[in-house]
Order: sequence, then structure tokens, then C-alpha cells
Amino acid sequence: MLIKRGFLVQEDGLRQADLRITDGKISQIAPELTPFPEEEVVDASGKYLFPGGVDVHTHFDMPAANCNTVDDFASASYAAITGGTTTVIDIAECVQPDCLAEGLETWHKKADGNSYCDYGFHMTLACWKDGMEEQVRQMMAQGISSFKAYTACKGVMGVDDTQLYQMMECLQRMGAVLCVHCENGEVLDYLQQKYKKTDAANVAFHSLSRPNLVEKEAISRVLDFAAMTGVTVYLVHVSTNEAVQVIADAKRRGQNVFAETCPHYLLLDDSLYHLPDFEAAKYVMSPPLRKPQDQQALWEGLVNQVIDTVSTDHYSFTFHEQKALGKRGLYPDSKRHSRCGAPRRADADLWHPARTVAGGAVQKACHQSGADFWNVSAEGRSGTGQRCRHSDGGSAASAHHHRRYLGAENRLYSF
Ligand SMILES: [Zn+2]
Repeated sequence: MLIKRGFLVQEDGLRQADLRITDGKISQIAPELTPFPEEEVVDASGKYLFPGGVDVHTHFDMPAANCNTVDDFASASYAAITGGTTTVIDIAECVQPDCLAEGLETWHKKADGNSYCDYGFHMTLACWKDGMEEQVRQMMAQGISSFKAYTACKGVMGVDDTQLYQMMECLQRMGAVLCVHCENGEVLDYLQQKYKKTDAANVAFHSLSRPNLVEKEAISRVLDFAAMTGVTVYLVHVSTNEAVQVIADAKRRGQNVFAETCPHYLLLDDSLYHLPDFEAAKYVMSPPLRKPQDQQALWEGLVNQVIDTVSTDHYSFTFHEQKALGKRGLYPDSKRHSRCGAPRRADADLWHPARTVAGGAVQKACHQSGADFWNVSAEGRSGTGQRCRHSDGGSAASAHHHRRYLGAENRLYSF
């Protein structure tokens, strides 16, 4: 196949060129290529040709309080390639927090043979105790190079400061990356209980119970621990102006930190929590949507490379069945990380800024000879990517027309 006259989005900018695909790989890029006899030619004049997106933070088929997220590897990865995302890094969870092998095996079973795009895994570390170091070593031998900790969600998957510090020491020794969900769990648990007494189903209280400084405090603490231990940290779903400033300071000091935000924090704000008739529940996620000034800081952070990546944190629930459970109260008594009544949602294709990937788990996606090529149809749901497993090289996808993936009926995609 020959794609002619498209604007190639590359690391060093845009350039108009012809691009040839041979046996599923980009084989040639040149200002002008002549079609071979009977070669399929696509005229991409006036269109952009993007590298394949890498979504480094997803939760496919993840157990929540009393249900699973609705997207499994098949449907979510199909959505991914439809939007031009050709690689995801999903977060593998363990039923038994101290048995990482079980979690990895479970996630392989969910993904293997079911994914339309390339994938890798981070692994959640929901506890830290004797023997975990050996388990981490075993996971790394099987290709896991990044792990995730939660400073919130205590009692389920959150860890205390001692555990966090100890796992940082270990991961630093092993050269692994620690991804951290940063919110002060004790404070937000207290605030949730406080607001629950006032009006358990008031969606606006969701954001009030998770103020900006709850995030900023946790990020500051995590950065200080990381500075003391020397571990590389990757801060997931950064949402506030205050956090951006703290991260910028750490980077100025030369600390090895990477930060991520998500499309919903860049594009939506907390005024949506005042929509009537439970509509606001569509926008409940953790951390919550913030104010326009936070959006502004995040955009500036992206431009200034304080924020390194944009990922979806895809964590999907139906509105009418699953989110509706929140009408009985946003804060169920069961202490589960994923509250069905108040789940996060995130769905959009994303573009890795080409520069960095957490843990080096996935190679940079760029237009290059030998890269896999994914032919994603402009008709959105008729993507033709083949199911595959981890690939060695970067990927590229045609994305002349971004179409929203609408998924199966009743699924909630707000973007
Ligand atoms: Zn997440």
C-alpha cells in the first residue's frame, strides 16, 4: 500500500511525504514514491498521518466493588486501534496482594488472544512485606518493568508510608519504575464520610471530598520519598495546578520523575458536577474534574514538558446500570478501590508525546521503516488490525479521520 501526500507527524515536526507499507510494516518514506503495478494507493492530501498512540494507563476487565469494568481486552483494544492507539499498558491486579504471579497469570489470560493491539502490563503492589522483593524480581524476569502503588484506597490496595518507602527502595535497587496514584487517602476518606452524612448521593460532593491539595500533598510526599530512595516515579493522572508546580520544582532539581495527565482533565471542568438529574454522575472519576485554571496549568505543563504523557486511565462503566448504583449513595460502605456508584471514566484515544514511556516497557512509536502498520478504517468500527501480542518495534496507524468509538449499546463514552 502506498499513502501519498499525507502530512507525517514525526518527532521533529511535520513533513509532507509518501509512505509505503509492505507486509504490514512501513517500508519506505520519501518525498515522492511511484506506485508499483497493482499497488493500492491512498490519497492522503490534506490529511495527517500520525504515529500509533501508546496509552500507558488502562484498566481493562478489572474487578470493581460488585462488578467488572464493561470493557474487556477485546472491546477496549478494538476501541483503541479504532482511534489510532496501537499499544496499551494495562494494570494487572492481584486478588491476593502478596501473590504477584497469580495476578500476572490472570491478566495474561484476559489479554492473550483477545487483544487487537499490542499490550504490556504494569502490576499493582497493594502491599509490601517480606518476600515481595523476590516476587518483584520474578515479575521483572517475565517482562514487567513498572509497578503501581496507591496512596489512597487504604484497606483495599492502598499502602501506608512505610510500605511505600520500602517498595521504592526495592524498585530503585532493581531499576524498575513505580507508578503512583497520589491522593491523601486518610483525608479523603474522612471527607467522604463527612459529606456522606450530609447527602450521600450529591454528585457535587465527590469533588469537594477530593480537593486539589489532597493530590498535591500526596505528590509532594511521594516526590520526597522518591528523592530519598532514588527511585524513578511516574505520577498517574495528575489533575491540579498545585501538583504541576510541585512536579516542575522536582524536575528543576533534576529528580527522575515522569508525570501523566488525562484527556478529561484537559478538556472538562468541575462545573459538570452541577448537571441535573444524575447527569453529573457521568463525570465522576478520581481524581475529580477540576477548575479551568487547573486545565490551563495542565496544558502549560504539557507544553513545558512538566507533564510527559497523556493517557486515558480507561475504566469503563455503563451509565444506566452501573453508575446508576450511585443514586443510592456515592460512597458505599464497602471499601473497594472501584466504587461502582462513583467510578472514574476515561475514553479517548491518546497520543504519547513520543519522548518517554514509563519503564521503557514499550518502545517509542514513530514513523520508521520496519514499524508495524495498523490500517484503521475511517469508518471507525471496521478497524482491520490483527490480534497480536507484544511486538518488538514501534507501531504506526493511519488516522486521517478520528472517529469516536461508540462501543456496544449502553456503554458510556463521553468524549
Ligand atoms: Zn488508573
